[in-house]
Amino acid sequence: MDGAAPYDLGDLHERAQGSRIVVIGAGAGGLVAAREIAKLDIGVTVVDAASRPGGAIRSAEVAGIPLDLGAESFATRGGHVAKLVDELGLADRVVDPGTGAGGAWVAGVPGIGAAPLPAGGVLGIPGNPFADDVRRVIGWRGAWRAYLDRVRPVLTIGHAHSLGALVRSRMGSRVLDRLVAPVTTGVYSASAEDIDPDIAAPGLNQALTRAGSLSGAVLSLAEKRKAAPGGAVRGLRGGMATLTDALAAAVEEAGGEVRLGAPATRILEDGDGWLVEIEGEDGPETIAADGVIVATEERPARRLLAPHAEGLAEDPPVPGPSVTVITLVVQSPELDAKPRGTGVLTVPGSHRAKALTHSTAKWQWVAEQMEPGVHAVRVSFGSAEEPPATDGLDDAAAASLALSEASDLLGTPLAPEQLLGYRVERFDQSQPAATFGQAEATRQARDAIRAVPRIGAVGAWLAGTGLAQVVPDAIAEADRVRRAVLFSE
Ligand SMILES: Cc1cc2nc3c(=O)[nH]c(=O)nc-3n(C[C@H](O)[C@H](O)[C@H](O)COP(=O)(O)OP(=O)(O)OC[C@H]3O[C@@H](n4cnc5c(N)ncnc54)[C@H](O)[C@@H]3O)c2cc1C
Repeated sequence: MDGAAPYDLGDLHERAQGSRIVVIGAGAGGLVAAREIAKLDIGVTVVDAASRPGGAIRSAEVAGIPLDLGAESFATRGGHVAKLVDELGLADRVVDPGTGAGGAWVAGVPGIGAAPLPAGGVLGIPGNPFADDVRRVIGWRGAWRAYLDRVRPVLTIGHAHSLGALVRSRMGSRVLDRLVAPVTTGVYSASAEDIDPDIAAPGLNQALTRAGSLSGAVLSLAEKRKAAPGGAVRGLRGGMATLTDALAAAVEEAGGEVRLGAPATRILEDGDGWLVEIEGEDGPETIAADGVIVATEERPARRLLAPHAEGLAEDPPVPGPSVTVITLVVQSPELDAKPRGTGVLTVPGSHRAKALTHSTAKWQWVAEQMEPGVHAVRVSFGSAEEPPATDGLDDAAAASLALSEASDLLGTPLAPEQLLGYRVERFDQSQPAATFGQAEATRQARDAIRAVPRIGAVGAWLAGTGLAQVVPDAIAEADRVRRAVLFSE
């Protein structure tokens, strides 16, 4: 935790008495921060605009079956989320993906349609362009072009190359368009051109210089990853919201308060402290606070903080992607065969959806809940490149588009009468941490916020997308703010 000195527990309890920190936002970041604060007996009030905690973590019933509608897993990297899950008594719910379905597929490949995404690559970049599974997607022409990477000198590789430019120049546009772009769009919601390889694939540039080729660099990086496992993801039986529900319960057990349906509208100075204005059930009200942690998405966070944090712009420098995820429950015995493994990424421009997850094929806990022949499928729309194709559609029309995309992506007819239920969820994300300029923008935002006394901010827009980033960052930031509250004179 930034090497901060341990507390002198002597008069800590006394100092904590009567002090209060308000956390704005009850997503994973806000709830983790609130739990840290409550541990030291500081009063904590969490307010959230929504009627349920969890933010981008949303689990709910579709056609009577509990499913994840937003985040569906956590990365094991760093061990932070697993530790939290343990502490909250949820360890027996942790599950691994994979029910013998193989991996993901790529769809929209010119000439062939869909094929399994080749194994063993890094961000979709293959280690061996002539491997059968790679050649199937890029063809002989693409494979020979990609092979040029092995024989061309490594002269011009600097750190300024975007991932897109790097892949195109070394291995050609078929590798870029058919293997790498589906991964960056589907996973990062970003174009490969905007991705900084130094952040998305640390070590790739150095390996490139050592190995003398991009495919050689991928092979050596993939080897290292195998030797140091940690790239894996795991899920929670019952859905990821069991984690945020447990966090909210832990905050309340420790004496904190979680107020839902209570959007914060402003933060106001109040002598040495702060007032958080919220839109309560009976109109505007204020909550007095010694410290405040803003834990919303980027846009509302900037709006709340900008009046106090000098130099912090009210709007994101680059607006992040909007993403819509439509969860469908369908009666389709044909899907028992898991025709597209755990799901499908699409070649950008080939489909209106960017990705599909066959949840019943990916998660045993989901499959176990289903009647024979019933399947859950999640269809995702929207990336930095283009707004969701579902924008402007009502939920029924969006679900109908998702069903026709699912039918196409799964290579299985799905008629409207096979649809047993659906849910449409919309998310505003921030720019992915791996895009150019984002690290600097984040550093500037953090510096501006840290200059404001007893105010902090957590969440994916600062820490990077994903629970493996959000959780440890929220713990560290909560510690910084509670120290400021406890030890400021
Ligand atoms: C579709 C999707 C799938 C994902 N899948 C995964 C995955 O599988 N694994 C993974 O690790 N990560 C995944 N992520 C990313 C992960 O979910 C997020 O990084 C993380 O949950 C973000 O948490 P957060 O606390 O930063 O913010 P959020 O969860 O966005 O929470 C912000 C909260 O602030 C509240 N709020 C906003 N404005 C106000 C206001 N004015 N007053 C009060 N409250 C306000 C919102 O209602 C919300 O509850 C996914 C994200 C999305 C969108």
